Amino acid sequence: MPDYKKLDILAIAAHPDDIEITCGGFMIKMSSLGRAVGALDLTAGEMGTFGNEKDRSAEAAAAAEIMNLSWRGNLGMPDSAVEINQENKLKIAEVIRMTRPELVVLPHWEQRHPDHAACSRLGFDACFLAGLKKIKVEGEPFRPRKIIYASYFRNRDHSFLVDITDSMEFKCKAIAAYRSQFAEEVVAKRIFMPGVDIYEMVRIRAAQLGQQIGVQYAEAFTMKEPIRYDDPQKMPGQSI
Ligand SMILES: [Zn+2]
Repeated sequence: MPDYKKLDILAIAAHPDDIEITCGGFMIKMSSLGRAVGALDLTAGEMGTFGNEKDRSAEAAAAAEIMNLSWRGNLGMPDSAVEINQENKLKIAEVIRMTRPELVVLPHWEQRHPDHAACSRLGFDACFLAGLKKIKVEGEPFRPRKIIYASYFRNRDHSFLVDITDSMEFKCKAIAAYRSQFAEEVVAKRIFMPGVDIYEMVRIRAAQLGQQIGVQYAEAFTMKEPIRYDDPQKMPGQSI
């Protein structure tokens, strides 16, 4: 694990490339505003049909640079076997204590891949446990103030959308850093959705979301608690 850094925002996901695909535009936007943005991957993605652990770790580092991340770590949990247990929660809680992010981004809790669903639960519980004084975890007790959930392709119950038009180009570059997964010759051979171009999928999704708030591209997020908004008359966007 690289040396910890104090972060404003920490995104946690199961596999390297999950963050880029689901909330990469948001991460790039926040880092361009001067926020300290970091990423924690739970696994190295070693069960993917293409690529190996070494490739994917180099690709994750290259993507981190494109997204201008202040920190990126990997917990080395087994890919496709991420378990919801206390040991894993405490590993994540340590990262939360050592990086002290005000905002944590987790995967949406409804998922097709079991690792994504496990990551969502583990991340939530880790944020809670990190604040307990008596728990045996490195670092001082700390609890992030807000948790938001990045929407994956199938999620529909968005709480808010973020305009990522200005960071779309770099989001696609960050995804392209995962050559072992998305290079043209690899995509052609994929068993799951052969020939499907990830960039086109990401672009269509971002354009459909953007259209709903009157911008070119957007990413969607969901929250478990209601959003406080004291002056709805000043809310951005229009209903009709
Ligand atoms: Zn994934």
